[in-house]
Amino acid sequence: MSAKILVIDNITVSFDGFKALNNLNFSMDAGELRVIIGPNGAGKTTFLDIITGKTKPTEGQVLFKGRNLRSYSEHQIAQMGVGRKFQTPRVYLNLTPRENLELSCNHRKAVFPTLFSKTPSAERRTVAGLLETIGLIHKADMKANLLSHGEKQWLEIGMLVAQSPDLLLVDEPVAGLTDEETMKTGELLLSLAESHSIIVIEHDMEFVRQIARKVTVLHQGSVLCEGTIDEVQSNPRVIEVYLGQPHEAEDNIPVSAKLEEHKTSLSAEDIVTT
Ligand code: ADP
Ligand code: MG
Repeated sequence: MSAKILVIDNITVSFDGFKALNNLNFSMDAGELRVIIGPNGAGKTTFLDIITGKTKPTEGQVLFKGRNLRSYSEHQIAQMGVGRKFQTPRVYLNLTPRENLELSCNHRKAVFPTLFSKTPSAERRTVAGLLETIGLIHKADMKANLLSHGEKQWLEIGMLVAQSPDLLLVDEPVAGLTDEETMKTGELLLSLAESHSIIVIEHDMEFVRQIARKVTVLHQGSVLCEGTIDEVQSNPRVIEVYLGQPHEAEDNIPVSAKLEEHKTSLSAEDIVTT
């Protein structure tokens, strides 16, 4: 059995009695790339909030690398190796990509002084390596405000990686990106997945298909099902949740075909996250 980097054990999060997460169980192996989908209000953001410590569960526990996170602050959990990428890029626009990455590397140095007490040149190599990974070497020294939306997203992913997280949480990385940028983001996440555990929340189904190995579907605060993209897309309960109603037996169209038919609505309108 491979080591679990994350185990979520029967978590409930109540907001004034309303259960945003409801007896949710989830686990993933170290090194896994997991995609989480689910309709609006399913609990996806709350799910990330309980991993980062932004929200504490009403019941249940979160184990990260075997440690119960309950007594740790958001800041301590980040130091333990959980990095979160928010939907809107948070880069310093008046600095260059290189400078942004240098700041993130310095931050890491402050967090893990013993590991990175080496030479400044070792750090420069790290920044150069990160610039290469995120494909921004040619734009390393221009102000970040001149970058496209996609390039800013990659820079922020690079800044996160600079802090050496064990688990990367990525919330809707391709919202608002061009098709080409979306494809490149998928390639970046796949390459990072070679050395990190990653959770991606996304509702662009074409993108999910590009990167997904295992997909978890959330609905009403619980896990509705898990499997490959083909398995979840042909699961009648998933189809019902996304399309809002069960299909009549009389039309004789298999549910999988129905879902293919509704792929466009699945990619955007029905699965809008807040
Ligand atoms: P998703 O990201 O899947 O759209 P969320 O996790 O944001 O879902 O929200 C799940 C449910 O919990 C929604 O019905 C939302 O209105 C509710 N919710 C989230 N945060 C709060 C809060 N702080 N107070 C009250 N209700 C909340
Ligand atoms: Mg959300």
